[in-house]
Amino acid sequence: MLIEEMTSREFSEGLQMTRTVLLPVGATEEHGPHLPSGTDTFQARDVCARLAERRPIFVAPAIPYGVCRSTIDHAGTISISTETLKSLVRDVVHSLYLKGLRDFVILSGHAGGTHNATLLDAGEGLLKQLPEIRVAVVTEFDLAKEEGEQLIDTDWDSHAGEIETSRMLATRPHLVKGSAAAEAPQFPKHILVRDKTNYWKGGVWGDPGQATAEKGRKIEALVVAALERLVARLETFSG
Ligand SMILES: [Zn+2]
Repeated sequence: MLIEEMTSREFSEGLQMTRTVLLPVGATEEHGPHLPSGTDTFQARDVCARLAERRPIFVAPAIPYGVCRSTIDHAGTISISTETLKSLVRDVVHSLYLKGLRDFVILSGHAGGTHNATLLDAGEGLLKQLPEIRVAVVTEFDLAKEEGEQLIDTDWDSHAGEIETSRMLATRPHLVKGSAAAEAPQFPKHILVRDKTNYWKGGVWGDPGQATAEKGRKIEALVVAALERLVARLETFSG
């Protein structure tokens, strides 16, 4: 049940079936010279929509912005602050709560450390403010990496590499512009750098050359299955 495609009446009817909602959080962020900047948003939205085909569950409109610390200097990235992301997630959850929803899965398509720490922080605050809710915060790229371990040849894959290129080849091949060289950024330890593109030229972290659409299809199915298990666990969680 994609909220943005539902009427008010359909929303009310949906509440008779479930009180659970998935909140996809993406990013608008460079993904190398070959993948679109909406890659993280597409991936988050797609796995939520696929789960909604399998069971009654609400899917909130995807948030297309995230905190992009490492790629903030690259062309194509539109980053927001941690304060904005936290407020946005908090406000959206509060509003959904007032409409009757109680179980929330905040699912991030973007795997940035600062970004995900912000989502966890937002989730912890919501648990304190809204006593009836249950909250899960999950990075779907981590699910892809864990669940797809046997399918992936690059164990250091991270950004716009084997996993993300495979998944975009599977779901939006028309947006994949060839491939890109393998790359591993070399940022100095501990020291913050003013222009990150000096240390991360291509904007890739991994080896896109290992990507195939077949791997992408299998990985996405594994992520959807893992998400379904998480939802089932959350809906009966009493801790
Ligand atoms: Zn990504």
